[in-house]
Amino acid sequence: MMLFDPHIHMTSRTTDDYAAMAAAGIAAIVEPAFWVGQPRTHVGTFEDYFLSLLGWERFRASQFGIRHFCTLALNPKEANNPRVAQGVIDLLPRYLEKDGVVAVGEIGFDDQTEAETKYFSAQIELAKEFNLPVLIHTPHRDKKRGTERTLALVRESGIKPELVLIDHNNEETLPLVLPSGCWAGHSLYPKTKMDEERMVQLVKQYGGERMVINSAADWGVSDPLKVPQTVRAMVEAGIPHSTITRIVWDNPVNFFRQSGAAPDGTGPARRRTTTHDGHARRHLFRSGHIYNRPFAA
Ligand SMILES: [Zn+2]
Repeated sequence: MMLFDPHIHMTSRTTDDYAAMAAAGIAAIVEPAFWVGQPRTHVGTFEDYFLSLLGWERFRASQFGIRHFCTLALNPKEANNPRVAQGVIDLLPRYLEKDGVVAVGEIGFDDQTEAETKYFSAQIELAKEFNLPVLIHTPHRDKKRGTERTLALVRESGIKPELVLIDHNNEETLPLVLPSGCWAGHSLYPKTKMDEERMVQLVKQYGGERMVINSAADWGVSDPLKVPQTVRAMVEAGIPHSTITRIVWDNPVNFFRQSGAAPDGTGPARRRTTTHDGHARRHLFRSGHIYNRPFAA
């Protein structure tokens, strides 16, 4: 069975992790741009981070036969930092058209502040402009209200729900997200968020439609093998093979395919179109060959 981990921060992981993931069947991953722990003090460090996700990290993954894609955004936490927030928004159009970018994300709420609301909306507008899906983080604190506010903001924005993946769901938020038509992500994280047994129960109750699981592995205590471990738990619980394949491969492939990329590596990528000024000029630089030379990206 080929596995997809659609939310993992490989920039904070080692090559041992890549080797173990490949051995466990992980064939494709999506790495969302996020908060890196230490607050950033310059917009330029975001630019280098975006470049490393597009170039170096993709190259590292390829050494283990893993297809690496990324989502780019101003993360929810740093939306509250006026020293960098608007500058990152201004930077994004230059990067959203690059090959390997499969969504705007992760965006959403952290503390549910006014600044977060402003940049959350602004980045949904960017996604609409660049014909990209969005990956939405939901807050750890006051999660239910944060998810309700997220769904309201998504509805108001007019973005199609099939272009929206709302992540880090639990028993309380999943019944809100699924009826909205958005996709529902679940982060299997040691001790917090969600574990294998609870995930099995959710799949038994809700089935596999628009359901996605990920490890959300990062610098914290986390496990890049949570997707294969959850597959094992689902097999042992008697969940049908077709449902499992749908959750750990077909769903993430089909969701991120909406960006124009081919996350499963098959078929020609649909050329993305955009209404953004300067698209034609920038498209000349999107032929992809530069990413065969990671240091030139
Ligand atoms: Zn994350």
